[in-house]
Amino acid sequence: MAALWEDVFSNEELLEEISTVAVDKALLMGVIMRTKENPNSSDVVSFAPITLLPSPVPRTLFEQAQSVQEDFNLLVDRISQNPSFLEQVLSSTMKVDDFIKRLFQIYRLVVAEGLAQSVFLGINRSDYMFDGREDGTTALKQIEINTIAASFGGLTSRTPAVHQHVLKMLGLTNEARNILPNNPSCGIARGIAKAWELYASEKAVVMFLVETTQRNIFDHRYVENELWNRPAPRFRDGHEVAVVYFRTGYVPQDYDEQDWEARLLMERSKAVKCPDVATQLVGTKKVQQELSRPRTLEKFLPDEPEAVARIRQTFTGLYTLDMGTEGDKTVEIALANPEQFVLKPQREGGGNNIYGEEIKQVLEKVKHGLERTSYILMDKIKPQPVKNCLLRAAGQTRLSQCISELGVFGVYVRHGDEMVLNERVGHLLRTKAIEHEDGGVAAGVAVLDNPYLV
Ligand code: ADP
Ligand code: MG
Ligand code: MG
Repeated sequence: MAALWEDVFSNEELLEEISTVAVDKALLMGVIMRTKENPNSSDVVSFAPITLLPSPVPRTLFEQAQSVQEDFNLLVDRISQNPSFLEQVLSSTMKVDDFIKRLFQIYRLVVAEGLAQSVFLGINRSDYMFDGREDGTTALKQIEINTIAASFGGLTSRTPAVHQHVLKMLGLTNEARNILPNNPSCGIARGIAKAWELYASEKAVVMFLVETTQRNIFDHRYVENELWNRPAPRFRDGHEVAVVYFRTGYVPQDYDEQDWEARLLMERSKAVKCPDVATQLVGTKKVQQELSRPRTLEKFLPDEPEAVARIRQTFTGLYTLDMGTEGDKTVEIALANPEQFVLKPQREGGGNNIYGEEIKQVLEKVKHGLERTSYILMDKIKPQPVKNCLLRAAGQTRLSQCISELGVFGVYVRHGDEMVLNERVGHLLRTKAIEHEDGGVAAGVAVLDNPYLV
């Protein structure tokens, strides 16, 4: 496969011609975004960035990522029901991170009052990279799990057709057949519909909470359209809300005082929040780091030793920066070998992590104070780069050495104590040039892709 792709990359004329075809096909299929200049108008749209050809993904690692997703769903749901664990794990972080603190205040209040909500809907995306080992093998390693506003489940459902078309145009008919079908938005809508049904109020509506700047609106629309395609009554504004689907609300800038009040109101209500504030907190990097401690997974999945093993296999080294000797040691190893690590604050949306020499600068500044506890340290995953061509609107066709990140979408619904739905509903492959350490598609760094299983 690599050789076939190389034939395309080394032929400049063919590359230009096929790139044009790929872009047109992306537009035809609805792999689209609003423009940076006009994020709130659909008058002019452009294609969402995408690779020219699918990227190789080891079949065994792809299957491993699929097979662990239901375990992660269960784990996230269990942790979200354990206030004392969340309190303990996030206690130092919330002292220095105002955003986490405010979320936690809401959480404490609703726990103290008793939850009005009895139906729970989780839509998450667990992201991985393929770590290259010294012995030449690769391992699946989790980057993070997103429990709020996990995006691209819509757009990615239209990208297989683009790569199939490109491969066919290149005469690679058999290869075209190997592109996997994929439609996360259908499964996401199924979860939302199930939660709505269990809420059991015919007239209640599903509310999509969206950002003020809506460049990625078509990604929401796919989920929305899947819902409209289902046999269900239709109602509009002025009605009771059964399900709140958050596509915003994951960074401090998303909230002014009024929004915090609105969030509190929602959390106190019996509406199904996707996610509720507890589940949002479960998605923090701090929780991820604490889960990697010995015997922690067992606490949440005591009756599931195989699930524990499957989950743990995807973990890489994660280190606390809490005050104390353990955190001191983390500072030491990071300062000695910054290239081996990523320093992560409790933020979402890409572009927040710290790498290499900058780790030194930041740690030197914060290492003696409580401020360091707003970060965690993580082993840096080092995938083997592969050549691909990244297609962007208003950009030139660009050949780059690239690395990919595989996401698997998970959906679950719990009614009281009973898990009534627990599924993996599709995948997302994002690819970026190696010169960028951080950042996803929305951040303008990565582009959409499809796995080509090898
Ligand atoms: P966010 O919630 O902002 O998306 P992530 O943990 O996913 O935070 O980090 C953002 C990006 O940084 C990832 O998409 C990946 O490209 C890169 N990254 C994060 N953690 C690692 C790691 N351990 N090794 C290598 N790259 C990483
Ligand atoms: Mg994230
Ligand atoms: Mg991420």
